[in-house]
Amino acid sequence: MIKDRIIKFFRCLFNTPSPIPVEAQIEITNKCNFSCNMCPRENMNVPLTNMDFGLFKEVVRKLSTPPPITPLQGGDAEGVRDFILTGWGEPLLHPDFFEMVDFIKSTNNSARIRFTTNGSLLDRDFRNRILESNINQVSISMDGLDSSNHIDGHVESGSIIENVTALAAERNSNKIPQIVFQSTMHCNNLKGLKNLIEFGGRIGIDRINLVRLDVRNNKGLKRPSMDEEQHIYRELQNIAENFNIPISFINKQGILLQMAGHFDRLCLRTIDHIYVNVNGDVTPCCNLREMKMGSLTKGDIKEIWNNKMFRNFRAYQLRVCRGCDALKRRHHH
Ligand code: SF4
Ligand code: SF4
Repeated sequence: MIKDRIIKFFRCLFNTPSPIPVEAQIEITNKCNFSCNMCPRENMNVPLTNMDFGLFKEVVRKLSTPPPITPLQGGDAEGVRDFILTGWGEPLLHPDFFEMVDFIKSTNNSARIRFTTNGSLLDRDFRNRILESNINQVSISMDGLDSSNHIDGHVESGSIIENVTALAAERNSNKIPQIVFQSTMHCNNLKGLKNLIEFGGRIGIDRINLVRLDVRNNKGLKRPSMDEEQHIYRELQNIAENFNIPISFINKQGILLQMAGHFDRLCLRTIDHIYVNVNGDVTPCCNLREMKMGSLTKGDIKEIWNNKMFRNFRAYQLRVCRGCDALKRRHHH
């Protein structure tokens, strides 16, 4: 893992994409059993459908065993290693979710798999299947322990808290899957986030990713100002340190990450990452799910990753991505 990070650091520093993608986020479903106010699915016109399992297998096969790459092209003939089974919905709603996980593991024995869930479906049966299938990481979208303080955010309930507590307790000593809290900052929700981190510390979660609320697709949303963000982060960092849990936030990147991101001029995601939407189209990321660079139903990943459209996207990324928080630590609210 450390080696992977070092390689990625230098790829970003020299703005040199990997020979083929290392990480693929696959939009297996956009259906969700929740309807959070902050969710941009409707405004983005995301189709609320599942990916067909046959198409999924074709996508995974093509990503796992791409055509060979010559030493001149970088000499790295490995396929995608990290699979993120998450679109704009709740992945556990896909009826073939665990068959998909098994298919990746049987096709690509070095694959690492992770997904993000709202936690509501993590009952005993789902938890057992997650543990049996050796999924590497589960991110849980929670913004507190009680949604009354952040009405635009994720819905929390007693049963979600019970599910997450049980998942953490049922892991063996290897702590697989890793449990990560993916938590959005909302106005006036510092107490909610503090309670959440204390809860995470007690049950032994592995990491907290603080996320800035995306207001681009919903102008009615209000998010903390830059100063408030700094204050929230400092307060939460103290609690996380007490429990020894790493906490990350885009506005608090260390100097090396800032250098890798060329000080807000290069997205850290796209140097080795693709998004595959429900139709099998390859796009740069989940925010640009309609910016089709090619289709895995027709082409192969090596050809798509190096085609003219992808090269143009990289050349003009600053213009295309204007306004995305992933590309700027600072923001105006
Ligand atoms: S749980 Fe996530 S995907 Fe579902 S509605 Fe809420 S924000 Fe959207
Ligand atoms: S800056 Fe945002 S929109 Fe652009 S590639 Fe990165 S995550 Fe996607």
